[in-house]
Amino acid sequence: MVHIKRIELSHFKSFGGTTSIPFLPGFTVVSGPNGSGKSNILDALLFCLGLATSKGLRAERLPDLISHNTNNRNNREAYVSVTFDISDYLSSEESLKTIETEEENNLINKTEWKVTRRLRVTKGGSYSSNYYINERPCTVNELHEELNRFRIYPEGYNVVLQGDVTSIISMNSKERRVIIDELAGVAEFDRKINKTKET
Ligand code: ATP
Ligand code: MG
Repeated sequence: MVHIKRIELSHFKSFGGTTSIPFLPGFTVVSGPNGSGKSNILDALLFCLGLATSKGLRAERLPDLISHNTNNRNNREAYVSVTFDISDYLSSEESLKTIETEEENNLINKTEWKVTRRLRVTKGGSYSSNYYINERPCTVNELHEELNRFRIYPEGYNVVLQGDVTSIISMNSKERRVIIDELAGVAEFDRKINKTKET
C-alpha cells in the first residue's frame, strides 16, 4: 500500500525552523504535551494535500499558518512537503496501465513521490499558494487527480481530527449517514451523478 514516508514542515504554525517527521509503514504515534504541535502535523498534511480550508486548519486566513516563532521576523514563507512511498504501487499491474510518458517511466526507479505546497506573503500583505509534485508546479485539481491514481481519495474521510469523534457521537442520523456513505464509497457515485445532472 502507498503510505506517507515523511512530512517536512518549514515555518509552518508552531514549527519555526524546518523539521522532518518520519512516518513508518503501518502505525506511527506522535506524543507530547498539550500545545506542543501534534495536531499541527495533521494540519500540515491537510494543508499540503489541499484537503482543508484555512478554517479547517484552525487559522483565520492562510497567512496565519506561517510560523510566528521564527528568528527572522521578515520571513513570510512556509512550506510543507509530504513524501509518499509508492514502491507497492509501482510493482502493481495497475501502474503499468497508467504509466504513459517517458517522465513517468523514470519514476519506476524511484520509490518516492513528493507533494509540496508553498505559501508566500508579499510586502503588500497579499499571498500566493502553490502546489508542486516532485518539484514541478501543478494545480490542486491535478494533484487530486494524481492522488486518485494511488487510490487516495481527497473527498474521503482520510483524517479523523481532534473533536471529530465527539461530533460524530452527537450528530443526528442523517448527518451520520453522510459519513457512512463516504466510507462505503457510495458518496463518490452520488457526486458523479449530481455532476452529470448539472451538465
Ligand atoms: P493538544 O494535546 O492540546 O491537542 P497539540 O500538541 O495538538 O495539543 P497543537 O494544536 O498542534 O497542539 O498546537 C497548538 C500550538 O500551535 C499553540 O501553542 C499555538 O500557539 C501554536 N501555533 C499555531 N499557529 C501558530 C503560528 N502561526 N505560529 C506559531 N505558533 C503557532
Ligand atoms: Mg491536538
